[in-house]
Parts: sequence; structure tokens; C-alpha cells
Amino acid sequence: MIRVAINGYGTIGKRVADAISAQDDMVISGVTKTKPSFGCDLAVRKGYPLYCTYDDEQKINAFHDAGYTCHGGLKTLLGVSDVVVDCSPGKHGAANLEKYKNAGIKWIFQGGEKHEMTGLSYTSCANHEQNLHAEGTRVVSCNTTGLSRTLIPLLESCGEISVECTMIRRAADPGDSDKGPINAIKPVLKVPSHHGPDVMSVEPRIKINSLAVAVPTTIMHMHAITVTLPQGHGMTTESILALWKSRPRIIIMNGGETGITTTAEVMEFARDIGRTWGDLHEIFVWEDGVKLVDNTLYYFQAIHQESDVVPENVDAIRALMGTESDWMASVRKTDEAITRMFS
Ligand code: NAD
Repeated sequence: MIRVAINGYGTIGKRVADAISAQDDMVISGVTKTKPSFGCDLAVRKGYPLYCTYDDEQKINAFHDAGYTCHGGLKTLLGVSDVVVDCSPGKHGAANLEKYKNAGIKWIFQGGEKHEMTGLSYTSCANHEQNLHAEGTRVVSCNTTGLSRTLIPLLESCGEISVECTMIRRAADPGDSDKGPINAIKPVLKVPSHHGPDVMSVEPRIKINSLAVAVPTTIMHMHAITVTLPQGHGMTTESILALWKSRPRIIIMNGGETGITTTAEVMEFARDIGRTWGDLHEIFVWEDGVKLVDNTLYYFQAIHQESDVVPENVDAIRALMGTESDWMASVRKTDEAITRMFS
């Protein structure tokens, strides 16, 4: 059993913890919270040993004073773990990395950290093999994961592609009360935005640029994507749809036929099929929003930002530990276990 620590039991951390505990080859050794708060009750209810983010006695005692059993600080947790999944807010990585290296265990960061910090990034469909037996990695962001899921199959089929995309981003997660905008559209005034080019951290052969805007919604990101295929590509709109349908973690639906024409209905669909927290690990592509005109492919896809990276963390653990070298086999194992646990 691979013993996995979750450092930062927040939006991503709590989801990754559940996905890991659904697997039969890994177990949660503990989760950290910075201080006693309502998230501790969830950890207790799920049966995850609770630890403090810090090793400071006073901070550990604050948990006991609030009525929680705290098993110690981060150092103690790392001592009983084989790998740590760092789900702290972005930019805490460098300070935490030092602690993981000192503890001599493997580590996984999230997309809020820069590729330069870890020197290696991960998406199951792009570079599982490159991550085998590595000391640590970074699971790329929700947007980069979403782009990779649909672009990597196109690259593999066509040999080369160049991509222009616009990320229409949710302003904040549903649980965040301190972010915006609430009544404006906010462009990212860095061109290109980091989102598209970040795909090259897992697949450098894709030529890609992106623009990004934040809009007042909390539930999903939307990508508007234009892909230039090479001359003589031999693809059709139908063959591209068939290609995506054959790949894991992509859902294709026809908006006109199903009535699922907005991100609100996509999220309602996720709730209807019984997904915990209304999560959708898959990337949602509208069949009737896909069109190939000569060499240019146009499509829209929706990304559930809080959850598409969750199963990727499970696969990344198997890559680092070297326990599954075939990415498709890992993805199948991960997804079947999650489905079994949550349906
Ligand atoms: P969050 O704020 O919801 O949760 C972070 C948790 O870490 C909180 O419980 C916080 O108390 C704790 N924490 C604070 N300081 C810490 C420290 N120094 N060490 C350990 N834990 C600490 O954040 P999140 O949305 O879960 O994001 C976590 C990471 O995942 C970030 O890198 C983020 O960019 C990435 N990510 C987020 C989303 C998303 O939509 N929320 C999607 C993909 C990737």
C-alpha cells in the first residue's frame, strides 16, 4: 500500500484524498489543516488522520483545544508517508519542497506552482512514462489538463498542430468569498496568458498560444479553441469526434439534442449522475460546437475546475512510485475505483 499525505486539505486536497482512498493500492496516511476549522470535521468524518500544517506545539495544541485529535505536525506526517500531495494555495511550493526533500519522500505539486519550480510536470495522457520513478512532479492546472485531454489525441493523429485558444475562466470557486470580479469581465493583460503555453510543459511539440478573461461565474471554465491541422491531415469533423470518444475522461454531448447548452446544465448533469460535490472529472465537449473547415478545427469545451485534476493526482502517484507504467491502465484503474466508491 502506498501511504499518501495530503498537505492542504482544501478544495483540491479533500477531493484528491477521497479519490486516493477509493483505490486498493494506496491509503491516506493523513491530511493537514493550518488551524481548527470546519474542514477538520470533514476529515474526521471520512476517517483521515488529522495533522497540523506546522510543527509548532502551540499550533498543534490549538486543534486539541478545539476538540480535534491532532496526530502532530507536518514533519510527523511526512515520516509515516511514501508520497505527499501538496494541495496548498499556489506559490507556497518552494518552502514546502524543502521539507519534502528533507523527509526523503516523493512529492506532487498542483498547477498553482510553476513548472520551473518542479522541473517536471504531469498529465496522464501526455507524459506518464516521463514521470516514472521521478522524485517529484507537478500536476498541471485544470485549464492545462483540459487542453491536454483534447489536444494530445489530435497531435498523435496528425503529427503536428498549432493552437490558438481563449480561456473564459470562472472568477472564483463556489466556496470562495474573497475573489472577483462579481460584475465585470477581466482580461488577463499578459499576452499570451500562461494557460496555453503551459501545455508545452507536458507536450512541447504542441505550438499553442492563449488569451484569458475571468467572468462572474463560479462553476466552470470554458475554452474556445482553434486548431490548425497540417496539410493532408485526413481528418473529418466526425473522425475527430470519434477519436475523442475513444479517449478517457472526455464527454461528448450534443447540446441541441440534450438541452445541455450552458455550463449550468453541464453541472446539473454532473449532479444528476450522482457525482460527489457535483464534480465532473471529464472534459465536456459540445458535439454541435465542433467543426472542421479545411485545415482549421473549431470547438468549445467546458472544464470543471475543481475536479478534472483530481484523478490525475492518483495516476501521478503510480507514475512516481513506478507501480503502473501504462497510463491507460492507471487511468482505467483510477476511474473504475472512483466510480465504484461514489455510485
Ligand atoms: P484552497 O485554498 O481551497 O485550499 C488550500 C488549503 O491549503 C487550505 O486548506 C489552506 O488552509 C491550506 N494551506 C494554507 N497554507 C498552507 C501551507 N503553507 N502548507 C500547506 N497547506 C496550506 O486551494 P485549492 O483551490 O485547493 O488550490 C490548491 C492548489 O491546487 C493550488 O496550487 C491551485 O492553483 C491548484 N488548483 C486549484 C484548482 C481550483 O479550481 N480550485 C484547480 C486546479 C488546480
